[in-house]
Amino acid sequence: MKEINGIMMQYFEWYLDCKQNLWNIIAQNAKKLSNIGVTALWLPPAYKGIGGKDEVGYGVYDLYDLGEFDQKGSIKTKYGSKDEYINCIATLKQEGIFSYADIVLNHKMGADMLQTIPATRVDWANHNIQTSEQETVKVATKFTFPNRKKKYSDFEWNWTHFDGIDYNDATKEHSIFKFKDKSWDDTVDEEYGNYDYLMGADIDFTNKEVIEECYKWAKWYLEETKVDGFRLDAVKHINMHFYKDWIKKLREETKKELYTVGEYWSGDVSKLHRYITETEGQICLFDVPLHYNLSIASKDENYDLTKIFERTLVKDNPQKAVTFVDNHDTQPSQSLESFVKPWFKQSAYALILLRNQGYPCVFYGDFYGIPYSGIEPTKDLEILMKLRKEKAYGNQIDYFDNPNCVGWTREGTDEYIKSGLAVIISNKKDDEKKMYIGEKFAGKRFIDALNNCEEIVEIDSQGEGMFKVKEKSVSVWIET
Ligand code: CA
Repeated sequence: MKEINGIMMQYFEWYLDCKQNLWNIIAQNAKKLSNIGVTALWLPPAYKGIGGKDEVGYGVYDLYDLGEFDQKGSIKTKYGSKDEYINCIATLKQEGIFSYADIVLNHKMGADMLQTIPATRVDWANHNIQTSEQETVKVATKFTFPNRKKKYSDFEWNWTHFDGIDYNDATKEHSIFKFKDKSWDDTVDEEYGNYDYLMGADIDFTNKEVIEECYKWAKWYLEETKVDGFRLDAVKHINMHFYKDWIKKLREETKKELYTVGEYWSGDVSKLHRYITETEGQICLFDVPLHYNLSIASKDENYDLTKIFERTLVKDNPQKAVTFVDNHDTQPSQSLESFVKPWFKQSAYALILLRNQGYPCVFYGDFYGIPYSGIEPTKDLEILMKLRKEKAYGNQIDYFDNPNCVGWTREGTDEYIKSGLAVIISNKKDDEKKMYIGEKFAGKRFIDALNNCEEIVEIDSQGEGMFKVKEKSVSVWIET
């Protein structure tokens, strides 16, 4: 589900207005998004969370309630009703845009009943270290979904389906409690000793009933919604073999490609490589190391731009890399805040949109701005997206030869009329760089599609041009 020069767009940010109906807005915008080159949308979690209509979606309560049942204070989710969600996906499909559902299986929240069970505490700093004798705790682990009345599924969750939780209701105490005879799943990230436990009631992915239920639910989800693929949340907290088997089986049974990208939040590319190996290449990953490089580059004007792709997934394994500049977790006031500074945003987007490697994902908050944090839309992001769609084709030649000024050219192909472009980025002064773009352009005049430079560059008889850039900016040169 990755078209040539396709663009994924993450169509939400953390602080979207709860009063608007996102599913309907997307349906209204589908045609426009298709026109500017969007080929897939990552939609936010569509099921009812603990916060009801105010819930962004990661505090999952009922996976079968896509805005259909009166649970957690409302029928609709933050984004609308089930019918509106299904209509949104169908409308996107008509415009040739794939839908990727955000799958949040690591934990559940907002249980219907408490259970009194034996558990031991573990150390916050190292989840492998037990810090108490066995004690009796009262925990939120029984999910019966009374208002759904067993429609679609009669599965009820109880404490045996979970490994642990971080709250004892009997004593009102916050601590990580590991349930009796449970062990944290292995093949997870090693931070905090073992990072299986993240939040809420942590699901036990070695439990056979759980594995069966998650598979049954996914088949139901695909049938009901007709989504084309998945974005998997928090994969470093979930047994790697669970998702490998889950996606393999779904692909076999549905005979669909089901493009899948996982969120393994780590700046250490070796961890991403290990995940891809362990999951046998079934799951692509967001290029978190590249995000960090872009974020650091935006905060340090002495950053060496020739190293921007060093130790990134897109450099080592471009076929499996989803490149992105920012997302709902890195935006200001969020848990992983590492927002790329505004002056570097255009350059960052040129780096992910106009090169041959990687599957770029554009963030809603960059495209539309984030009113909550007073953040303006990234200037001319729409132009950069269209440039990917119309011009970023053909052989790529890199000029990553100056710490403060890098560039590359795309020679274009006959298939796309007037395709080909030259990109030059500076993080310091006004600069210029001689780059080869192809003899077929000899004598042609080039202008900066972003209007950051007003000059005209003429290509010489050898197919080279002296391309220019203003201080701390980017220029994308295209044939007039
Ligand atoms: Ca977990």
